[in-house]
Amino acid sequence: MHEDFNSLETGKPFTHCCTCDCLLSDASIHVINKSYVAHECIFELAMCMECREDMNSKLSEESRVAMFDFMHDRTDMKKRELELGSDAEPAAYLKSCITCGIDSTTLTNYSTGAMFSHQELQKGPFPILMCSTCEEQLAETISDETRNTWDKFIGEHFPGPPSEIKLPSGNKPLLL
Ligand SMILES: [Zn+2]
Ligand SMILES: [Zn+2]
Repeated sequence: MHEDFNSLETGKPFTHCCTCDCLLSDASIHVINKSYVAHECIFELAMCMECREDMNSKLSEESRVAMFDFMHDRTDMKKRELELGSDAEPAAYLKSCITCGIDSTTLTNYSTGAMFSHQELQKGPFPILMCSTCEEQLAETISDETRNTWDKFIGEHFPGPPSEIKLPSGNKPLLL
């Protein structure tokens, strides 16, 4: 299980938003998503909150609701908050899949998401980890339109071979 949110490329914290290229140290909040296949990071992304919200606004209302429901129905946020609060070790937040609870040390394929304020990791609901099985189920809840928006976004921002990145399911990683 990987618990760092540095850029794989530089080994250091991400510096720029992948979409608008703003300095993340200037952005009040930014998010980082990574996807692993066979323990190897196949996809990583850092995005400022403005771009993230802009991205979200392009998704269909139906998909946004479906994604929210999927997370909400399967995650006991209250229990998580009681157990972890906002001051546990980062690894503690990633020890199991957010939606099915499977022990993450048994996983080889999964995605993680984290939220930072400037360079500081924000703890609470995030950071989170989702196993590839749940991610596939989540992908099934969203509309084709949302799927296309997201695939196009990845294609535009990660040109070249990385745009062909796919999970074993054939889908591209989702934003957690
Ligand atoms: Zn941005
Ligand atoms: Zn799961």
